[in-house]
Amino acid sequence: MHATMRAKIVRIDELLQAEYGDRPQPPPSEPLDELVFTILSQNTTSKNYHRAYNQLKERFPTWEEVLGAPQEEVEAAIRTAGLANVKAPRIQKILRQVAKERGELSLSFLHQLPLDEAFQYLLKFDGVGPKTAACVLLFSCGLPAFPVDTHVHRLSQRLGLVPEGTSAAASQDILQELVPPEAAHRFHVNLVSHGRAVCKAQRPRCEKCVIAGECQFFSREEEGKK
Ligand code: SF4
Repeated sequence: MHATMRAKIVRIDELLQAEYGDRPQPPPSEPLDELVFTILSQNTTSKNYHRAYNQLKERFPTWEEVLGAPQEEVEAAIRTAGLANVKAPRIQKILRQVAKERGELSLSFLHQLPLDEAFQYLLKFDGVGPKTAACVLLFSCGLPAFPVDTHVHRLSQRLGLVPEGTSAAASQDILQELVPPEAAHRFHVNLVSHGRAVCKAQRPRCEKCVIAGECQFFSREEEGKK
């Protein structure tokens, strides 16, 4: 069963790669930057959280300054990301915890840890779930974590990679096992692109889809037409 599903993932990965490109892994970066960025991205659009992150860095160029600022000022700086009254204290609490534990505002030590250990470390922070932890490890540490966001969750069910109704967290556990490590970054990024451009939540554009031949939802719809 695992081998069949892995083979299916490899085929989908190849088709998406032909459509969207190889998506090379970004160079390693400071995991704390990525963590704050990912917290800002929760429950909002890409444009809004990019703006909020840039405004935060403009207003407070260092994490020390964010930590020392009154909460209302941090909230004001990240307002465009939404839920600023939740995200600002969440970010400041994490910064406080990191400073206390590590003696510096950096999580660069994560670059030395194996995937599982780094993942478990990040999960202990309030407001950091499996998706956020996996994003940090995939995008800043180059580790083959496989985040399941709203697009990946939707596509993995439609494609039949996970059973319908599987939660995002459970889907992440399943896909983490199935996706070949060397494909994790490319497959994640390409699924997100495909979810945004073609396999939309409301009206998937199946007639334009390059992976329709691998899709459970599509074959069911076609069966229904007969
Ligand atoms: S065939 Fe339709 S439902 Fe399936 S992945 Fe493509 S767009 Fe999504």
